[in-house]
Amino acid sequence: VIEHGQAEKKVTTTCAYCGVGCSFDAEVKGTTVVRMVPSKDGGANHGHSCVKGRFAFGYATHPDRITTPMIRKSIEDAWQPVSWDEAINYAASEFKRIQAKHGRDSIGGITSSRCTNEETYLVQKLVRAAFGNNNVDTCARVCHSPTGYGLKQTLGESAGTQTFDSVMKADVIMVMGANPTDGHPVFGSQMKRRLREGARLIVVDPRAIDLVRSPHIQATHHLKLKPGSNVAMITSLAHVIVTEGLVQEDFVRERCEWASFEQWRDFVAKPENSPEAMEIHTGVPAAEVRAAARLFATGGNAAIYYGLGVTEHSQGSTTVIGIANLAMATGNIGREGVGVNPLRGQNNVQGSCDMGSFPHELPGYRHVSDAATRALFKDAWGVEPQPEPGLRIPNMFEAAMDGTFLGLYCEGEDIVQSDPNTQHVEAALRAMECVVVQDLFLNETAKFAHVFLPGSSFLEKDGTFTNAERRISRVRKAMPPLAGKADWEVTCMLSNALGYPMDYKDPSDIMDEIARLTPTFHGVSYERLDELGSIQWPCNEDAPEGTPIMHIEQFVRGKGRFMLTEYIPTDERTSSRFPLILTTGRILSQYNVGAQTRRTPNSMWHDEDRLEIHPADAESRGINDGDWVGITSRAGETVLRAVVSERMQPGVVYTTFHFPESGANVITTDNSDWATNCPEYKVTAVQVTRVTQP
Ligand code: SF4
Repeated sequence: VIEHGQAEKKVTTTCAYCGVGCSFDAEVKGTTVVRMVPSKDGGANHGHSCVKGRFAFGYATHPDRITTPMIRKSIEDAWQPVSWDEAINYAASEFKRIQAKHGRDSIGGITSSRCTNEETYLVQKLVRAAFGNNNVDTCARVCHSPTGYGLKQTLGESAGTQTFDSVMKADVIMVMGANPTDGHPVFGSQMKRRLREGARLIVVDPRAIDLVRSPHIQATHHLKLKPGSNVAMITSLAHVIVTEGLVQEDFVRERCEWASFEQWRDFVAKPENSPEAMEIHTGVPAAEVRAAARLFATGGNAAIYYGLGVTEHSQGSTTVIGIANLAMATGNIGREGVGVNPLRGQNNVQGSCDMGSFPHELPGYRHVSDAATRALFKDAWGVEPQPEPGLRIPNMFEAAMDGTFLGLYCEGEDIVQSDPNTQHVEAALRAMECVVVQDLFLNETAKFAHVFLPGSSFLEKDGTFTNAERRISRVRKAMPPLAGKADWEVTCMLSNALGYPMDYKDPSDIMDEIARLTPTFHGVSYERLDELGSIQWPCNEDAPEGTPIMHIEQFVRGKGRFMLTEYIPTDERTSSRFPLILTTGRILSQYNVGAQTRRTPNSMWHDEDRLEIHPADAESRGINDGDWVGITSRAGETVLRAVVSERMQPGVVYTTFHFPESGANVITTDNSDWATNCPEYKVTAVQVTRVTQP
């Protein structure tokens, strides 16, 4: 029973689920949050919320929360509750022992988008200064790392270009590989408002998402492409724009590298890149692609919104580059109503990348090989970061199997459930000698841990999150940490025990250090955030109020750079044994691996992952709606309940990935993006057969 009428105080904070970053007033009674009310002053949500955020306090006090540190010598042993000091000292001594025996690079850390900016900053600092290597990575590796790469290469900054409110000035909205009404519901509603006002919609997706046809909304074009053919599609759209004279040449001449444009123009104009030639790959009639390209180029302000259906492919970075090419060629960048808009899945994916949690980049996306940047950090930290990039998450797993990577500090990320090829991840963790998990619950990864450090939920901590529109918002403590320590304090304790002192008064102190060392954050402080409500970076001497729209006068890299997008089909192929393609996505009431939403009764509207299958594929297999089906891939097998649906195209099946029992990642492959190793979750060849109930 929620007695919200008796709340004693309100604390304004930020939702810890998706990348919209809604602002809420958490109403508190005693030491418990009893209600979350969306804040009218929230820059991203303007008083709106979705079911996840509204009930996000449910899991914070769930009985599954672990509030005592625990250790065990072997993963076969039972957990032993211990004091904080004992757990930290044990972890530190194990890390030191491993490094003494196997070398500096034999340990590393993984941080998460669930962490605040301040916490993530500390994890990468711990790895770089206390571990002495660059073996740090983040869950963005498995979602938007191609965004970071592709947008940096073309536009000069690893971030989306717009505010959410910008959509209200769009005349044409292209949604590619995203499902905003489920994945980013508050922004999805805002987009629907604009569509109901008359903006036209192009959906590029293998599945008919809700936006394709919903009350008062009908997509002008649904390019229902085959999974894995994004690059073929984006290149053939570009072909039409170039060969039909629809390029905004004045914009390109003034704002972009002309030589790179000419090279790209000549490439996309080749007959083999036409919609007709690409039809065999995309499966979309060429006339439909031509009509969509014309609408995009001539329909007024055109904005592109994309999600994991773009990034989680072996050519994820190439598609991001193709999207940026399209925006530049049509002059749709640098003002309201246009732009390149990655819909970041998690609350702080943007921030986690901004804070330098990639093995090759220090905070502010500066490469570790840059001597001047390293010198700056050496001055501040007293330790110079290593000049060579460290291990990415998949490389850590490979090194573990080789016996050269044996210690891992993992904060806020359930890698066993969220990373591809679960069997391989589990084998790698088993091969390690010390796995330290810092989390709310004994998650799937904790089954392989030797030290468990209780984490704190967003309601128990101070800090900041940065949403998909680069908006930095305060996270404020509404209740004390259940385990007595905030996550940032735990990281400091571990660093101190390792012999590298970390001494901060509070998270504001950490943000001040971030601001000193990061040019795009120079103007950010908790005082400024309290004053302005939220700030979109860059916020510095040039932009003291922040930057809602980027690349207005010029691109961050100076001139925009076109890059070629050659289509290379994925290695994952259908065969007579695996004739269907499985692709994945999210559902409104659940969130990612479900660790929080599955423990929040109010959002239990969907209590299992299901497999959507086209009626023709279902009929040929004797599958009826609601039947149990076995899904087998080259990597593994699982069982789900079937939903027979016209949303699917023949030959393609779809599931969500919120429940560990369904094990969607047991069947996904090892394929990954060529530039960033982002896993190819969206294309797995499978067979589906009717089975009896498991
Ligand atoms: Fe807003 Fe996303 Fe939280 Fe829903 S899940 S309330 S859309 S931030």
